[in-house]
Amino acid sequence: MAKKKTKSETKEFQAEVKKLLDIVIHSLYTERDIFVRELISNAADALEKFRHQSLSEEEVFDSHVPLEITIDVDDTNHTLTITDTGIGMTREELEANLGTIAHSGSNTFLSELAEAAKKDVSLIGQFGVGFYSAFMAAQKVRVLSRSYGPDAEGYEWSSDGSGSYTLTPENGLRRGTKVIIELKDDSHEFANEEKIRGIIKQYSNFVPFPIKVKGETVNTVQAIWARNKNEIKEEEYSEFYKFIGNAFDDPLLRLHFVADAPLAINALLFVPKENIERLGFGRMTSGVNLYCQKVLIEQHSENIMPEWLRFLKGVVDSEDLPLNISRQALQDSALVAKLKQVLTKRFLKFLGEQAKEDPEKYNGFFADFGIYLKEGATSDYAYRDEIAKLLRFESSKSEAGKIISLAEYVERMAEGQEEIYYINGPSRTAAESGPYVEAFRKREIEIIYTLEPIDDFVMNHLGEFDGKKLVSADRGDLDLSAIKSSEKPEEEKADSSMEPEVAESLVGWIKETLGDRLKEVIVSKRLVGSPAIVVSPDGYMTSTMERVMQAARLEKGEQFQEVGTKNLEINTDHPLIRQLSLLRGTDEDFAKNVIEQIFDNALIQAGLMVDPRKMVERSYQILERATKG
Ligand code: ADP
Ligand code: MG
Repeated sequence: MAKKKTKSETKEFQAEVKKLLDIVIHSLYTERDIFVRELISNAADALEKFRHQSLSEEEVFDSHVPLEITIDVDDTNHTLTITDTGIGMTREELEANLGTIAHSGSNTFLSELAEAAKKDVSLIGQFGVGFYSAFMAAQKVRVLSRSYGPDAEGYEWSSDGSGSYTLTPENGLRRGTKVIIELKDDSHEFANEEKIRGIIKQYSNFVPFPIKVKGETVNTVQAIWARNKNEIKEEEYSEFYKFIGNAFDDPLLRLHFVADAPLAINALLFVPKENIERLGFGRMTSGVNLYCQKVLIEQHSENIMPEWLRFLKGVVDSEDLPLNISRQALQDSALVAKLKQVLTKRFLKFLGEQAKEDPEKYNGFFADFGIYLKEGATSDYAYRDEIAKLLRFESSKSEAGKIISLAEYVERMAEGQEEIYYINGPSRTAAESGPYVEAFRKREIEIIYTLEPIDDFVMNHLGEFDGKKLVSADRGDLDLSAIKSSEKPEEEKADSSMEPEVAESLVGWIKETLGDRLKEVIVSKRLVGSPAIVVSPDGYMTSTMERVMQAARLEKGEQFQEVGTKNLEINTDHPLIRQLSLLRGTDEDFAKNVIEQIFDNALIQAGLMVDPRKMVERSYQILERATKG
């Protein structure tokens, strides 16, 4: 048989890959060790894929070859070689996997990566730039691969990382992939056997396939979660977490949960120290792997934990699951749904225990990860009550920066108080100084400050806590008169109060003037120092929710829209309102300007947007008149 011609072809990297390589080669010079971890993890993934594939495939190439990773070092020629007997890659796969980045929005991704690389190179693993990290230490990388299919052909991919790569057909390869790193002058240490053993121990100890150096298995290859809790050392947990979470530091919290009934579950879940979504890394995907009797069923399973717990890392093992369950079946399985429910409940209970045991630590957790619980409260009806207990907020009776639970609030509610009150503001100071808090302060009724936009949606979804309604202080029908407060409110009305008929006529006039910009005009029973506020009638969104919707509309490029669903409460004891009532008779046009301005001001205080052009023009007219002298 004639020998096949070996014909090489050189191709340019995709532009994004070039940029990525540039970052990898030039800005990442600390913690180079991680490239070994990345290559080993790719080898393990490939073995896992092969194992999975071979279950359903009739014929595979090299079926007798054991599933393992072999590492060879050559200290004389300065090379490091990582070989796996996994699924391998075809020519097309080599091109797609090692020539492009399959990331949507690659450009934002790259600029974020460049930023992160400057701050903390260990985050590179989280970005999934895995393979390319080899160029931190390599002057040239050669990848020899043969796919598992019986008729597949072998290829060599090689590159010096400077802009292009070369593909060459290669005969006589075994199944799997061999990555040969020709080390740069400053990286010869990676051809040192002890160094490599050390890295394997440190980062790849729990890879579920043997990693062999000189014929000897270096890693532990065991399922720590299946061992007896009492026999597991703290360091072992921490080491396992680093492996499974691609992390460099210890976890913040750990739950090792073992149950026999109603389902057999062995779960080991970790909360990381850092919320990387907050660091600007984009949306996390699940970090929990699903096993059945120590055999991996699904990596980064989207099925086993609710999406709002996506910050968790760890494993769930249940021997009740069928071993060869398919992706689709996992999604539809009632058993998996049940597992998910049990685990979610258990994890929320665990958080409750943590909050009791070490409140300070829990509050630290909440500051970073509370946003996920809030997401859960708004999206997952089933866990509402459990989540509500775990929420923390600032309140008028907490020191600035300190957070309390709803249970604490309920415990110290005033006599006669039936509802839990909250008000949203962009900051504590803003919430405190807004007109809505006046009546509460006057009566010394505690009020919760919801400082994040999502909070009002959360409160709205919860509806109540411990049988007490959650009520926004911008609600129109707020009535605090039944509450016994330590400080008696001052006399409700001054003698000089506006006559009821005068007030009624003023209300009618305002309604007529502002038309459908609002719903209702009401004489306030709660205002003290402010002339007017905007409130939400029962059944309508709070101003905060409205604000979020407004912002979303504007972001989509839609027209600015008047709200029109709010009530205006006026304070008929306030000099401005009283003068306005008189002004109506003497200069109605000007009076109209004034009430429109008052309304706009109230909208602004509610955090709602007003048409800035109209508002500025009008305020100049008013100022002009005021400065006439
Ligand atoms: P990731 O592992 O996050 O997908 P990498 O950059 O590490 O990203 O690898 C890119 C892709 O290249 C992998 O998804 C895989 O398809 C392929 N690949 C890398 N190494 C191997 C290997 N040893 N065997 C088979 N495929 C591999
Ligand atoms: Mg990888």
